[in-house]
Amino acid sequence: MKIAGLLVALTAALNLTTSAAISESLKTESSTGLASARAVSPVQFPGLCRFPLGDFQITTLSDGTCSLDLHELLLGASVSEVDFLLDKQCLHNPVEASVNSFLIQTGTKNILVDTGAGQLFGPKVCGKLLESLMVAGLKPEQIDDILITHVHTDHSGGLMRDGRMLFPNATIHVGKPDVDFFLDSSNSEKTGYGIKYFESAQKTLKPYVDAGKVKTFSGILEILPGITATLHPGHTPGSAFYLVKSKDQSIQFLGDVIHCSAVQMPRPDITIKFDVDSTKAAKVRSEELAHFAKDKQMIAAPHLPFPGIGYVQAEGKGYRWIPKEYRNRE
Ligand SMILES: [Zn+2]
Repeated sequence: MKIAGLLVALTAALNLTTSAAISESLKTESSTGLASARAVSPVQFPGLCRFPLGDFQITTLSDGTCSLDLHELLLGASVSEVDFLLDKQCLHNPVEASVNSFLIQTGTKNILVDTGAGQLFGPKVCGKLLESLMVAGLKPEQIDDILITHVHTDHSGGLMRDGRMLFPNATIHVGKPDVDFFLDSSNSEKTGYGIKYFESAQKTLKPYVDAGKVKTFSGILEILPGITATLHPGHTPGSAFYLVKSKDQSIQFLGDVIHCSAVQMPRPDITIKFDVDSTKAAKVRSEELAHFAKDKQMIAAPHLPFPGIGYVQAEGKGYRWIPKEYRNRE
């Protein structure tokens, strides 16, 4: 669906949720109304969840979910060990992983953290960020900056739509080692890392590089007021965290430090095939989970269950995930 059509459809859907429309529909007792009330759909409404952070507002924007076959993907644990940990949380393989993007509204800027998979996972899987963004009341042109945690399909894939830059007014911030690595496809042969990641980087990140819209960083850098980027190489060479502070509150936006909390919180040593350097990735996970638990640091995780906002608590030899309290009132 073209963007204009999508906007019309979303506007119509939103109008139906006004209190007047709800009152009207409650008065309707026609058989047609009752039949449509019985219709069911597996598709969620656009996924948003927001909360204040000091003077800022943070919103999780769901890009959708995708299936992860942990038996196939995880390294360093047997199938029975994985199943045991999943069963403790009433889960079973394959698990459904959220793909969360985030919106930071500072009052002067609209900033995205990651862009989901865009159209790269096909027509039915992910690619819902645009819908979520529009329900949040924003058009893509109103995004000023985009913080990319790392250059993987499900994080930078949504930069493009129908072969065009979806966010024409945005500056893209990304770790320099990821740009250097993924925009040079000879690194696939040198390292054995899948060529599809390099191809998707060419399709989605390169147009912004060519347009002079990409700013890279290498060390610790305050890239925008209140937002500090740090590099944590392992999952990818330029994997970045973004620490956002306003007044006395803060949240750390992670990349793919963790894909499944039920397994990798109690066992941070368990790695996943998506890692470019799994030894370093496991080290980052162990060290950072310890920091987050000690500091009671609020974190935003792209693949933990929507909305992916919460805390880490030490438990036994590992950790457990504590979702942030949900609030929905004036
Ligand atoms: Zn990911």
